[in-house]
Amino acid sequence: MRLGWLGIGNMGNPMAGNLLKAGYSLTVYNRTAERAKPLIEKGAKQAKDQAELVEGCDVIFTMLSDDKAVEEVYLGNDGLFTKPVKGTLFINMSTVAPGTSEKLYHKAKKRDANFIEAPVSGSVKPAEDATLVILAAGDKEDMEGARPLLEKLGKLVLYTGAIGKGAIAKLSINYFLALTLQGLAESVLFAKSHGIEPTQMLSIVNEGACGSGITKLKSPAILKGEFPPAFALKHMAKDLRLIRDEGITTPVAKPVIESYQRALEKGLGDEDVMAIISYLEKA
Ligand code: NAP
Repeated sequence: MRLGWLGIGNMGNPMAGNLLKAGYSLTVYNRTAERAKPLIEKGAKQAKDQAELVEGCDVIFTMLSDDKAVEEVYLGNDGLFTKPVKGTLFINMSTVAPGTSEKLYHKAKKRDANFIEAPVSGSVKPAEDATLVILAAGDKEDMEGARPLLEKLGKLVLYTGAIGKGAIAKLSINYFLALTLQGLAESVLFAKSHGIEPTQMLSIVNEGACGSGITKLKSPAILKGEFPPAFALKHMAKDLRLIRDEGITTPVAKPVIESYQRALEKGLGDEDVMAIISYLEKA
């Protein structure tokens, strides 16, 4: 099976790397060509453009920023769906709106191609360790056909149902993540304003029942006050806008969505999502 990977960002790089590690033949393409270098060094072939990628692959993964990037890559003037794609399986692992997945699914069908969505829960470290949780949706037979590949990327591959359900599942878990990080940041700042240092407060969180994988993972960055991006804040702000567009009306949704949006407007978009604490501290 000839595999292709399009989108070599923070997540795409380690995920595609795991397909290489598993011994698959992999061709890669990224808009900014030099970002493909680490994968080429590990044995991937580099397609010179999207047409070459489509021509040489039976299965193509996409891992791109947002709906706009995904629409451009699939449906743009020179997009994947302007090429002969009959029989190709496309697996979009980017986090996008359910409606975007549905649109691409139907466009693929019209071209006798197949499309499933498989957004992921987990960040760069789980991507490196192949311990992502993968939330697949679309035609069950396509998803089951892709399962052996997806199992090289994650510890759990869930079939969530018809196309669009994977996106809903992904947005739901990211809503919980947004609440958790906002809550962690607010608690640390409240404690600090009353004389409890962040080191102590983070120990209280992490050694007690409120401690979790994510609070432990983000604690060193809070203490250093440095937020190099694993999951960029701009992507969380994007996910929250998608959640809002899907009609969330629960009590804290609106202020939390606004909080990340304002942090984005203050120029923190390319920092890690935990930089929400910098925004709150200054605000
Ligand atoms: P990233 O590091 O920002 O990478 C984005 C990728 O999209 C790059 O390869 C970029 O290409 C490409 N891209 C953007 N706009 C494009 C366009 N118009 N045409 C072609 N390519 C375009 O993002 P990431 O962190 O890997 O995240 C990717 C997706 O996974 C996002 O939907 C995010 O929400 C989701 N996600 C991320 C994490 C995480 O922890 N990072 C976790 C779970 C899910 P260039 O290199 O040319 O800019």
